[in-house]
Amino acid sequence: MATQPSAPRKTDIGPPHYEQFLHPVIKKNYGQWKYHEYLKPGVMVHVAESGDKIYSIRVGSPRLISVDVIRLFADLADKYCDGFLRFTSRNNVEFLTDKEKSIEPLIKDVEAQGYPVGGTGNAISNIIHTQGWVHCHSAATDVSGLVKATMDELYEYFVDMKLPYKLKLAAACCLNMCGAVHCSDIAILGIHRRPPKIKDEQVSRVCEIPTTVSSCPTAAIRPTTVEGKQTVKVDEDRCMFCANCYTVCPAMPIADALNDGVSLWVGGKVSNARSEPMFTKLAHPFLPNNPPRCRRVDRADWLAEVL
Ligand code: SF4
Ligand code: SF4
Repeated sequence: MATQPSAPRKTDIGPPHYEQFLHPVIKKNYGQWKYHEYLKPGVMVHVAESGDKIYSIRVGSPRLISVDVIRLFADLADKYCDGFLRFTSRNNVEFLTDKEKSIEPLIKDVEAQGYPVGGTGNAISNIIHTQGWVHCHSAATDVSGLVKATMDELYEYFVDMKLPYKLKLAAACCLNMCGAVHCSDIAILGIHRRPPKIKDEQVSRVCEIPTTVSSCPTAAIRPTTVEGKQTVKVDEDRCMFCANCYTVCPAMPIADALNDGVSLWVGGKVSNARSEPMFTKLAHPFLPNNPPRCRRVDRADWLAEVL
């Protein structure tokens, strides 16, 4: 029996209920799917017990996308899919349609705009990655540049299904691992390797000391006084280089041009569908911060450049 949309939530917090955005075929056949199969790289069909079919056309997105790109995807969805699309957890765009005849014209249009169709089955899905300097203070590397360079090398495995199994890659710009890199098959992880440097003369002017002390997950930060001014000190043996303190206290910069870099991890698994979930294991402890298209810049310089 099909799931009926629930009553509207009585709250103004959070997004509207997803049910109102489901494709009519998905809404009608919710929870009653018979099977799905890959028709070709990037194209899936889900067949319901009722015989209804819904086609998904998966497109690699640049992950950090502009309003113009969102509008482009929305216009393509309007043109070929009655306006239906979704973003996957790995930042692919999936166009959803029940009209088989829309598939090839949509693919032609998508590819003409420079976006690849693929990422299904025994392929690489889009590399999920965290935002780094675009949005976050903690980054140890320019992960967007790393991901672009990596995906350019692996492009053929996105647009085809010739791998022995599906492969998930992730990248995070610091060990807070917002991209869940610890559960991906292969992970690129930006790492700091030195504790923050404390600018004692600035701490009391730009930082709230109790907040700074409590920001440290290992209790490595203590209040102290230097030359009569309130500041903080770090027990370096306890520091795990997470950069949380720098996020709340700009007078504790942790970026280090020589000692920040990238580590590589393998063997993670987030799903428990066919095997137990697993964390990645360290494969390579450190690569210097100069991969292709990587820019190591100070946050202030970067802001000055983009503003
Ligand atoms: S992984 Fe680290 S640097 Fe990247 S967004 Fe998360 S906290 Fe920020
Ligand atoms: S980098 Fe992390 S562990 Fe080290 S002092 Fe700052 S908050 Fe604590």
